[in-house]
Amino acid sequence: MVKCVALVVAAGRGRRLGGEMPKQYLDLGGRPVLRHTLAVLATNPGIDAVRCVIHPDDRPFYDLAAAGLGLLEPVDGGASRQDSVRLGLESLADLAPDAVLIHDGARPFVDAGTIGRVIGALEQHPGAIPAIAVADTLKHGRHGLVAATVERVNLYRAQTPQGFRYGDILEAHRAAAGCELTDDASVAERAGLAVALVTGSEDNFKITTLADLDRARRAFGGPGETRTGSGFDVHRFVPGTGLWLCGVPVPHDAALDGHSDADVALHAATDAVLGAIAAGDIGHHFPPTDDRWKGAASHLFLAHAAGLLSALGGRVVHLDLTIICERPKVGPHRGAMAARVAEILGISQNRVSIKATTTEGLGFTGRREGIAAQATATVWLP
Ligand code: MG
Repeated sequence: MVKCVALVVAAGRGRRLGGEMPKQYLDLGGRPVLRHTLAVLATNPGIDAVRCVIHPDDRPFYDLAAAGLGLLEPVDGGASRQDSVRLGLESLADLAPDAVLIHDGARPFVDAGTIGRVIGALEQHPGAIPAIAVADTLKHGRHGLVAATVERVNLYRAQTPQGFRYGDILEAHRAAAGCELTDDASVAERAGLAVALVTGSEDNFKITTLADLDRARRAFGGPGETRTGSGFDVHRFVPGTGLWLCGVPVPHDAALDGHSDADVALHAATDAVLGAIAAGDIGHHFPPTDDRWKGAASHLFLAHAAGLLSALGGRVVHLDLTIICERPKVGPHRGAMAARVAEILGISQNRVSIKATTTEGLGFTGRREGIAAQATATVWLP
């Protein structure tokens, strides 16, 4: 069952920035603006599927922006944003998600914290939007003169993603067709639905003007940021003649038990990379209940995590892995392991550290009942 779908509105013509290209497809740090937006949503563990509403003329641009992200087929929008959202919602009828997050394609800096707060609020309320309290004094102007000062207490700037229970917002949009409202919360309010305010982010601005695009490009041209993720995993020994560690076959007088190939080191590494981009854990992406991953080679898991990072424009700077066991001896395989992990991640071998330790005969690794591994991934993000 699909619980939460992100519906991205990218059907606008938005050519006021000049040129022939709608703004959501303009270049931002080497990729289309929309690519960044879609990648953040597609990698969020709280979102099960992403559908984009596009203008039919933009299909070639869209295909480039969405390549490899595993999104639902896009649907064509309508004459206004509101029409486009309604058509997008109608297109989700077969999926019948519990919740839908409606997001502007031109807000590429939406972050996992904001998404999580919106989804979290939907447990209590039929609608939720991220918003920022107005800090500037507001003036009502007339003919270039101040006509009045507007009380700013309790005034907020609304952002997206705006989250709603699917059935409620679909009905509200059907009822509001032709009304020309400027956001989906307005549509919900009109239908009498309570909409909660959650904390938004100043960085989650919408690219509307050339100044906005400059600001976005400065953010991408800047030093970026470094993040760290950690991973830990354990697999137990079972009778056998060898096991996989760091994607390398290691002869041993036992094997490791697991749904996949039980490569405990690559599982810890995968969780470390996922952790660095707040993209959930290996069990979320590759559930042990799913037969597709029965006996799977674990390099697929690590490559998937690296792919999510790369979709965000980031890369692994360093990976430090520690394997904890009495036997097998890791030393003889260390070079091959580092080379294999570097190959899976597409980075040079001097950025991969493979360490090994025992627990001095103590605990389950000391009793030779299994192997534990922990990993720390350092990643760079634009
Ligand atoms: Mg595991």
